[in-house]
Amino acid sequence: MAFSEFRPLDEKVLIEYIKATPSLASKLGNKFDNLTIKEVGDGNLNFVFIVVGSSGSFVIKQALPYIRLIGESWPMTKERAYFEALALKEHGSLSPDHVPEVYHFDRTMSLIGMHYLEPPHIILRKGLIAGVEYPLLADHMSDYIAKTLFFTSLLYHNTTDHKKAVAEFCGNVELCRLTEQVVFSDPYKVSQYNRWTSPYLDSDAEAVRGDNALKLEVAELKSLFCERAQALVHGDLHTSSVMVTHDSTQVIDPEFAFYGPMGFDIGAFLGNLILAFYAQDGHANDQNDRKFL
Ligand code: ADP
Ligand code: MG
Repeated sequence: MAFSEFRPLDEKVLIEYIKATPSLASKLGNKFDNLTIKEVGDGNLNFVFIVVGSSGSFVIKQALPYIRLIGESWPMTKERAYFEALALKEHGSLSPDHVPEVYHFDRTMSLIGMHYLEPPHIILRKGLIAGVEYPLLADHMSDYIAKTLFFTSLLYHNTTDHKKAVAEFCGNVELCRLTEQVVFSDPYKVSQYNRWTSPYLDSDAEAVRGDNALKLEVAELKSLFCERAQALVHGDLHTSSVMVTHDSTQVIDPEFAFYGPMGFDIGAFLGNLILAFYAQDGHANDQNDRKFL
C-alpha cells in the first residue's frame, strides 16, 4: 500500500502514488518522464484519470466520500470502489473479452488501476447519439450478460458459494439504497433531484406521479430488486457504462454491483437501446435521416 490513509488525488499526489506502487509503476516500464495525466471524469460519481507514459498506460478511478455530480452535500461511502473492483474482477474472469483488466486495487485510497480503453473507444451512448451502428454489439453484450449472470447464479453456484457471495455484496448497501431511491421511488413523486424539460414535459411528469397502476407495478419491481438475490448484477448497465469501437465492446463502472434479479441488467440495457431508438428522429439532419430500415 502506497499511502497509510485516504488522500484525494490530484496530479501531483497521483504521480507520487504511482512511483510508490510497483504494480502501477511497472506498467509504465518504471519511466516517469513525459507522463501525461488527464482527468476525464464525465461520470456522475467519481474521478477518473488517464495516465499515459512512453512505455504503457492505465486508468485510475478514485471514489470520494460524496457524489461528484451533487457535491459534498450528498455523502456516499467511498467503499463503493471496493465493490466495483470486486465486480470487475469477478465479471472479468467470466467475460474477459468485455471487461477491462484490473491492475491494482487499494481499499484505503478507494482507488482502482485498470486497463485504459484507448481511442477510438467511446461511450456507447455517444456513438448511438451520433448515429453509429455497431454490428457486433448485440453478440458481445449478450455474451457478457449471459456469462456474468449464469455463472454467478444458482444455475451454476452451489448453495454455500452463493450465500457467501451474496453476503459479501450485501455490504454494497449504500449504492443499492441509492438505486432504490432514484430508480424505484423518486421518479414517481415530487422529490428534490427530479428534473425534466419544463414546461414542455410538466404534464407528462404529472401523469407519471398520478398513475397508481404504474406505481403498483414499479413497487413490485422494487420488491424484486430488494429481495431477489439471483445473480451478481452489474447494477447500472446503461449505455454510458459501455465503451465501444466497431470491433470491441467493454463494460465499465460496476460500482452498483450486488446480488439482485438478472432482469435488472437485461432490462436496463434493453431499455436504454429502446430510448436510443426513439431518440433517432430527433437527431436527423441533412447528412443523415436516421432511417435505418
Ligand atoms: P462514474 O462512476 O463516475 O460514472 P465511469 O466509470 O463511468 O465513472 O467513468 C467516467 C468516464 O471515464 C467514462 O465515461 C469514460 O469516458 C472514462 N473511463 C472510465 N474508465 C475508463 C477506461 N478503463 N478506459 C478509458 N476511459 C475510461
Ligand atoms: Mg458512469
